Amino acid sequence: MNSILSKYRDILDNFEDLEAGGYRREHGTETGVLRLSGRANPEEAPAQDLSSCSLEELAGLVRRCSACPLGSLRKNAVPGDGSSKPEVMLIGEAPGGQEDESGKPFVGAAGKYLDKWLDAVHLSRDRNVFIANVIKCRPPGNRDPEESEMKSCFPYLLAQIELLKPRAILCLGRFAGRKITGMETSLRNMREKVHYFQDIPVIVTYHPSAVLRNPELRRPVWDDLRRLSGLIGQG
Ligand code: URA
Repeated sequence: MNSILSKYRDILDNFEDLEAGGYRREHGTETGVLRLSGRANPEEAPAQDLSSCSLEELAGLVRRCSACPLGSLRKNAVPGDGSSKPEVMLIGEAPGGQEDESGKPFVGAAGKYLDKWLDAVHLSRDRNVFIANVIKCRPPGNRDPEESEMKSCFPYLLAQIELLKPRAILCLGRFAGRKITGMETSLRNMREKVHYFQDIPVIVTYHPSAVLRNPELRRPVWDDLRRLSGLIGQG
């Protein structure tokens, strides 16, 4: 009986996620502590050893990457952008159309809204934030990233995290949350707790595109941002 109820709750949670934040498109679009190993799964790692690369070298590799089919569909890869000594690393889902055009993360409507969130907690991409995505190339039609794409792209994200050593990570949306926490669950279940990736505290919140579509999510996002501020001593 309990397992039926918990399955039912999962279905409701996932449905709620889908409504609230499942779609990144800008147009018609364990509680407590979780420690993950810091090493890439050898299966996931590209042939090259990324651990000795600089940020620029990683960006160059991302721009030339053809590890998954998205490599042949992109106009520009979007390696990530921001401070090289970030207090906070933000992790979104995947580039959209404007990001694919510009090669920069979060430059569309969601990005402008994200800048306001950052400003509210004294963060900015120029000063103390680095923004990356789970996958670095735009999925066609802004569809959800596929598991195989996330898997082949993950070593880049991992290398960026290890190099940048942010004081905290903020995951934007379900895909980033799941990849970084390792939890196969709804966004609601990942919120309201501090996870750890290596020793870095991680907060999961809604994706800005979802909040633009559903203003009721503003309040929980604000709570998450305040929690983030507290973690880095800016609260
Ligand atoms: N949405 C994302 O998740 N990432 C971007 O870079 C832009 C929109």
